[in-house]
Amino acid sequence: MKHYLESIENVYAAVSSGPRGLTSKEAGQRLRAEGKNKLTEPPKDSVLKRFFKQMADPMIIILLVSAVISGVTAAYQSESFADVFIILFVVCVNAVLGVVQESKAEKAIDALKEMTGEVCKVQRDGTMQNVKSEELVRGDILLLEAGDAIPADARIIESISLKMEEAALTGESVPTEKTTEPLRLGTARDITLGDRKNMVYTGSTVAYGRGKAVVVATGMQTEIGKIAQAISLAKEERTPLQIRLAQLSKMLTILVLGICALIFGVDLIRKSGDLNARSVINMFMIAVSLAVAAIPEGLVAVVTIVLSIGVTKMSRRHAIIRRLTAVETLGCTQVICSDKTGTLTQNKMTVVEHYGPDEELLAKAMALASDAELRRDNVAVGEPTECALLNYANTLSLPKYELIKEYPLVGEAPFDSLRKRMSTVHAHGAGFIQFSKGAPDEILKLCTKCLTKEGVVSMTEGQKAEISAETTGMANKALRVLACAYREYAAAPADFRSENLERELVFIGLTGMIDPVRPEVLDAIQKCRLAGIRPVMITGDHKNTAVAIAKELDILQDDAGVITGVELDEMSEEALRENIAQYSVYARVQPDHKVRIVNAWKATGAVTAMTGDGVNDAASIKSADIGVGMGITGTDVTKNVADMVLADDNFATIIAAVEEGRKIYDNIKKCIQFLLASNLSEVMSIFIATLFGFTILEPVHILWINLITDSSPALALGMEKEENDLMLRAPRSPQAGIFSGGVGVDVVYQGILVTILTLAAYFIGHYMENGVWEVVNSPDGMTMAFITMSMAEIFHSFNMRSQRHSVLKMRYHNLYLYGAMLASLVLTIGVIYIPTFSVLFGFEEISLGEYAVALGLALLVFPIVEFVKALQRKFTKKTR
Ligand code: ATP
Repeated sequence: MKHYLESIENVYAAVSSGPRGLTSKEAGQRLRAEGKNKLTEPPKDSVLKRFFKQMADPMIIILLVSAVISGVTAAYQSESFADVFIILFVVCVNAVLGVVQESKAEKAIDALKEMTGEVCKVQRDGTMQNVKSEELVRGDILLLEAGDAIPADARIIESISLKMEEAALTGESVPTEKTTEPLRLGTARDITLGDRKNMVYTGSTVAYGRGKAVVVATGMQTEIGKIAQAISLAKEERTPLQIRLAQLSKMLTILVLGICALIFGVDLIRKSGDLNARSVINMFMIAVSLAVAAIPEGLVAVVTIVLSIGVTKMSRRHAIIRRLTAVETLGCTQVICSDKTGTLTQNKMTVVEHYGPDEELLAKAMALASDAELRRDNVAVGEPTECALLNYANTLSLPKYELIKEYPLVGEAPFDSLRKRMSTVHAHGAGFIQFSKGAPDEILKLCTKCLTKEGVVSMTEGQKAEISAETTGMANKALRVLACAYREYAAAPADFRSENLERELVFIGLTGMIDPVRPEVLDAIQKCRLAGIRPVMITGDHKNTAVAIAKELDILQDDAGVITGVELDEMSEEALRENIAQYSVYARVQPDHKVRIVNAWKATGAVTAMTGDGVNDAASIKSADIGVGMGITGTDVTKNVADMVLADDNFATIIAAVEEGRKIYDNIKKCIQFLLASNLSEVMSIFIATLFGFTILEPVHILWINLITDSSPALALGMEKEENDLMLRAPRSPQAGIFSGGVGVDVVYQGILVTILTLAAYFIGHYMENGVWEVVNSPDGMTMAFITMSMAEIFHSFNMRSQRHSVLKMRYHNLYLYGAMLASLVLTIGVIYIPTFSVLFGFEEISLGEYAVALGLALLVFPIVEFVKALQRKFTKKTR
């Protein structure tokens, strides 16, 4: 059926619905019969497939090749297959870990998708209900307003200046006006999507106005569903850090393979005199162990895990990350531009003051000129500002449900934040009356007359001045002030466009409503300042209201920091850029001012976050480094372009997210530093040993160290709580790489330190057993070197809890790290003292004394690094 050609009644009949919509019961039955309203996604890979996908890694391939070679030689020389088993074991464990990590990250993303799951407003059981878009069925009646995303294909049944943004479907970027009339085909065979003026389609959004539409197709039956058989909604994007690390890993891999080939080649030439299969295999295994040692297998995986765990943590603190890149950027935030209403304040409005000669008319007019509804149980539903007005009228015994009977609505010019006002037209008696309400300055300039105790008179300059003074007085008390006016008509206006309606008004009066600040925001602002982040307030509200609230919140310290939208308009881009740091409060702004503010901040190089809720805020949210959408009051349009959505609309949540962002980056940095220092020590030890012709550690030993004593503490480091000074530091520069701030130097000296300790253990081990200092292959030395290196890694992970601060002074304990240490300790003792394993690994049994020496050497890593940290702290203090 071509619903756009049919009358509304026929459409109702076709989808078995009516003007009141469906009942919940019917909707439930249809949902079961027709399925959910969503596009089918491509099936996920099976576990087995994922497992084998893990094998497509250069590192794993090297390992598998070396397993095959050792297998063949072992069979050929009838030796044990120990190496083969250990390598295969490690490969399998690695792959399993990879699969687990992947599905964990995926689950975190799925959970987020679930949380950001869209909701739409429908009319069911005769009332407005919020329903998950997934659960929408044919026949449901959708209630649409500016900023809503359309969740299904629907035929329009009511349009109040409804305009749709359909660029995603039609490519047409100018919003199209919608009507309710059936269309005519004429001579054409069909009407194209863009011309179906009485339909709305999934994928478009409401640009302006409001309306109702009855759903005619859901899920894969929608036009979008027909075009795209499968659309994966959440694009999996890698963060800059992940990309850089993947590049680093690749570079290291290539470099190491080159060096290995070189060493192998040199060895071959050097020993070309007496080459046999055994020695070639040996040389090959050395090269392999070097490769295994140097390639930081865990690096990318650990970062991904830490990021996905961080994202989950943030969601627990009500910050829902929509793009992974935001996690990194959050840590760099330097400026946070926030809306006032609802984010800094509670958006719980109550009328506390009024001005005007006729309070009853004022309340009536305010209540009628609004989109909010008063339910029969006297609960107001709708936008908080409007609910406050309805409640106000209700306290004067003027409930809106009664008022509307006396003044039935015939037309409306909806609110938008450019005009900062709205008007409704009602039938009344023999004629019609219009009520307009909005920002006092916007209403006042349209008024030619004024209601006084003596009746309606022409507005004088004196009256205007008095009204302005009254407005300022209320605004100075941090009240949101709205003005109200009316206009009478003998016949209904021909069109309800604002230009036509909003002129020659009669001024009625003012209301002042209080909107208390959120108590937690004061703390958040303090935290913000300590963390070197600049808080900025942007509001559509009156300048004095803005200033009063900004002072209460300590956002504003002196009056020079305030500027209004009008003043902004007079300022050139250059002037704004030069003075941007001066302003902390922007009042009476329009959505496009926000784009200018963001761009000016960005031009100074500052990483800027910007909040937004309204339909026109999408542009500024997109321009910001971190676009922040509002979970409760925000429109779908803004949520969809936001990098992060605040589930509780709260400014304090942004600060919490910044804190998490800083912590995540900090922890990732610790993981990387730890892993790279470990790998470096392994490479250097093997390299030096090879140079002097002895084997310090076999490939399987290195694999073991990398798998057990490296990966698990690295992951545990990723779970570190925040350091004491995390929110006392200046924001990190987005240009600063991972190796900045001395990390590169630390990696090198710590790598060298562990190498020295390991080499020392090797020679001492040989000496303790044989009584001579010599450079030879020594199984005792190897065992000792293994203990020292693996334990040194564990102790070093403890050091890495903080790059600069003493670990002994840290506020929290990291139980994961203790767990990882204990597990590694037990496992390492196990492989040395359980005969089956020690044979597999080629270890000698060593005495308790030797064990103590090896452990003692490893332990040295702790005081030495603490000592260097103390020096570093002293040095950096001096240079500051
Ligand atoms: P903020 O920018 O601080 O979040 P806001 O979101 O309320 O405030 P807008 O919604 O753009 O800002 O509103 C701008 C101005 O329009 C308000 O200060 C108020 O004077 C007026 N206004 C807000 N809501 C309504 C409404 N429902 N009807 C009429 N006027 C309104």
